[in-house]
Amino acid sequence: MSKLGVETSNGVAVLRFDNPPVNSFGLELRGLLWAALARAEADPAVGAIILIGSGKGFSGGADIREFGTPKSYAEPNLRTLLRAVEECSKPVIAAIEGICMGGGLEMALACHYRVAGTSARLALPEVKLGLLPGAGGTQRLPRVIGIEAALNMIVSGAQVSADQLPRLFDRLSAGELLASAADFARGLINEKRGPRRVRDLSLKMPNAEAYLQFARNTIKAVAGPYPAPLACVEAIAAAVREPFDQGLKRERELFSQLMLTPESAALRHIFQAERAAAHIGDVPDSTSTRPISKVGVIGAGTMGGGITMAFINAGLPVVLLETTQQALDRGLAGIRRNYQGALRKGTLDEASLERRLALITPTLEYQPLRDVDLVVEAVFESMDVKRQVFEKLDEVVKQGAVLASNTSALNLDLIARFTRRPQDVIGLHFFSPAHVMRLLEVVRGARTSKEVLATAMQLAKQLGKIAVVSGVCDGFIGNRMVARYAQAAHELLMAGAEPQQIDTAMQNFGMAMGPFRMNDLAGLDIGWALRKRRATERPNLDFSNVADVLCEAGRFGQKTGAGWYRYEAGSRNAIPDPDVSAIIDTYRAQKGFTARVVSDADIVERCVYALINEGARIIEDGIAQRSSDVDIVYLNGYGFPAHRGGPMFYADQTGLLEVERALGRIASSPGADVVFWAPAPLLARLAREGKTFGEYTGSAS
Ligand code: NAD
Repeated sequence: MSKLGVETSNGVAVLRFDNPPVNSFGLELRGLLWAALARAEADPAVGAIILIGSGKGFSGGADIREFGTPKSYAEPNLRTLLRAVEECSKPVIAAIEGICMGGGLEMALACHYRVAGTSARLALPEVKLGLLPGAGGTQRLPRVIGIEAALNMIVSGAQVSADQLPRLFDRLSAGELLASAADFARGLINEKRGPRRVRDLSLKMPNAEAYLQFARNTIKAVAGPYPAPLACVEAIAAAVREPFDQGLKRERELFSQLMLTPESAALRHIFQAERAAAHIGDVPDSTSTRPISKVGVIGAGTMGGGITMAFINAGLPVVLLETTQQALDRGLAGIRRNYQGALRKGTLDEASLERRLALITPTLEYQPLRDVDLVVEAVFESMDVKRQVFEKLDEVVKQGAVLASNTSALNLDLIARFTRRPQDVIGLHFFSPAHVMRLLEVVRGARTSKEVLATAMQLAKQLGKIAVVSGVCDGFIGNRMVARYAQAAHELLMAGAEPQQIDTAMQNFGMAMGPFRMNDLAGLDIGWALRKRRATERPNLDFSNVADVLCEAGRFGQKTGAGWYRYEAGSRNAIPDPDVSAIIDTYRAQKGFTARVVSDADIVERCVYALINEGARIIEDGIAQRSSDVDIVYLNGYGFPAHRGGPMFYADQTGLLEVERALGRIASSPGADVVFWAPAPLLARLAREGKTFGEYTGSAS
């Protein structure tokens, strides 16, 4: 079927984009449009031309599948096509409803007139990919809606509705869009009004230069490591200063420069990685899913409370089960308290809060869980307790329901065996706070059915989360990596660095929080309990850590007012503590390490390369499906800086040979654990073959 519908009636040619899902301007549609436009222009029976979309709206812009491929440049490229539209000798009208973004809006701006339906949503979101609108958007939009409004749209990339942009449209139509646009077109023909080109509009604003300088200063302060927002201002400055064609040229130059920045490469990688994460190799996108309209949550503690909020925020009713009335009341009070912030900020009103809370059915009994479609278990991290819960769920909950565990470290396959329906058991590893964090690790057990997996992926979308599939292993993807990161940080302490030096170096690298501040936030007691458990399981191995000494002194982190730092009552401000330095010094001496000066570069290298090395093992073991999934986990769950694209992308950008060489250098430094720093076999192999993690597609590659 053609991606472009063409119909002419009453002197008006209607060219309808039909390229699902978002009518993106891929090469094929561009070619069809180019030809149809030329035919309509040459047809004496045609007096005006309407461009309109079908399905989700006008157009979402460039085709992301063509990103970075020769197809995106192939003629007619978007700029050539837009020029042809603008130069058309007959009036061209954009009829816009639904989405009109990026190249879609640039197309609308190249048209001579614009008619919008009330559903139209407009944006130039290129800045979110570290770019700027590269097909005339920065030159045309200010000419139509003014410098200030255009700058706000282009620098923020935010979506705007049609009624917020009255200057952009010649007509806002509440009725049937095509009828309204055709009526408008016939009016033009009758009045013999020809094309009105945006390029010919003058751009006037008193004190434009002063305004642009103000914008530069403001944006510089908030752009962080990203060059794109300032480049957007420069492109708009060119629109103010230069003739139209010169401005277009400047826009093009700035666009090409941004394309080459590592920040844009990272953001584009993330954009595609997020889309890739939704696909599971052996589970076709067409796999049927089970409807989820009522859920159960077991345990109303930290995680159970947050998970309940994630569900009720999405409008799903929740049966919330606890063991005692006291624990249930505490959990419900915690949920209510968590909403207070939103009430104070005005992002939620009392009535909506009550409506959400009314979706919760608190219970101490299993019977109300009979008819739920999915249960998430979030009880204590103990196999015995999980066994009790899953055996009971198996007995009570209807057949076909999804039984999920939020366990962080227990073996999901063992949990599945507590039921007679292991195919329905899956891990849904939420991150704390579960109603805020976007990441969801979907843990695929050995026997989890494809339908249940597809249902979990669908549910994640419903909750507004980004789901990444993980196989079963200790810590899944994220916690398995963070354990290595913490180990590297510990080794740095033993080498002579202080917690605050390590944290500051990692924060300067861009991490949301350094490893020790993160540990203080999460609680040192969790790792302490885990090490004690492991030490009893494997008495011949040494799991000791200087954190044990802190825990023995009651320093569990923020919750006890002291951990790696000390905290004043009611404050989260981490204050370096000489007592901690003394504990570390003593411990270091006991273990026979000698303190040396550790550089910030050394810190970053060790912490990040420890992550990368474990990430490589996770991919090779098939725990993660692809390296970009590892990036998504680490970016969304652990505060890795987006402008670096995730640990695996960072490794690819650095070059795997270089990473491998650095690992060798670290391994041979005094006090380093040689086994720990040995390059993962996959890393070594790809380095040897001159390949990247991004190119690796599984053991077959
Ligand atoms: P928590 O101690 O805050 O809450 C556990 C709750 O479960 C308590 O309210 C307890 O009363 C209740 N409970 C215990 N046994 C029960 C039973 N048989 N039936 C019903 N309720 C029962 O613990 P948490 O931090 O919310 O962790 C819960 C689970 O989530 C654990 O498996 C943990 O590993 C996992 N998890 C925790 C985090 C985190 O950051 N805290 C993150 C991801 C996953």
